[in-house]
Amino acid sequence: MFTTEKFLPDEEKLKAVEENYKRVLDEVRESAVKAGRGENDVRLMCVTKTVEPVYINRVLALGADLIGENRVQEYLSKRDSLRLNGVEKHLIGHLQTNKVKSIVGEADMIESVSSLKLAKEISKISVLKGVVTNCLAEVNIGKEESKSGIFAEELEDILYEISTLPGIKIKGLMTIPPICETEAQARRYFAEMRQYFIDIKGKKIDNVDMDILSMGMSGDYKAAIAEGADIVRVGSAVFGARKYV
Ligand SMILES: *Cc1c(COP(=O)(O)O)cnc(C)c1O
Repeated sequence: MFTTEKFLPDEEKLKAVEENYKRVLDEVRESAVKAGRGENDVRLMCVTKTVEPVYINRVLALGADLIGENRVQEYLSKRDSLRLNGVEKHLIGHLQTNKVKSIVGEADMIESVSSLKLAKEISKISVLKGVVTNCLAEVNIGKEESKSGIFAEELEDILYEISTLPGIKIKGLMTIPPICETEAQARRYFAEMRQYFIDIKGKKIDNVDMDILSMGMSGDYKAAIAEGADIVRVGSAVFGARKYV
């Protein structure tokens, strides 16, 4: 493939990405230990939406082993340029039912299962393809109209329904809390999430595991780890501000 000047990586940016990644990873480990966990118990997901493959490959070369993409199309068109050996790929963005057939079997986890309807479609397509799709249930913790996700009050009922579906396995919960002005505010949402996570775990629903709590982004991942996050999803703190085209 020819590389035009436009696609030559910016060496300074590459260096910045490298430093950012190392710093964030250190902070994730430090926060994990502060929260009484092992330093490798909290996984750092590098969120790669809108990021050019060359920068993603740099963090993969440094040992990043989990990436998150928002859009099915973007992920499928980028992945051949990525060195993904041994790397877990999660879909974290809003998923429309008509895109389910393109992503089932192509990602290791769908973190954004935001309705029973979507779960049913994932189940149907997974059965057709002969796979079991690992998923997280996305909780709309702030009950925001602008966001998708299951309301906490409906979570248990919906999980019981999903538990009866073939081809789909719920492994935990994911959330994007409302934008908060202070870390203390964000932390309250994360604490609430942890409580739901523990409550659901205690129900021991067949075929529903509560192993993974995915919460915390660039601005609040330390607060999320303090409240029990297992995966933090970090984009701009590693790759810099996103440019949407
Ligand atoms: C973009 C995105 C992130 C990362 O956001 P940053 O603030 O850049 O770290 C995390 N989770 C989801 C679902 C996202 O869409």
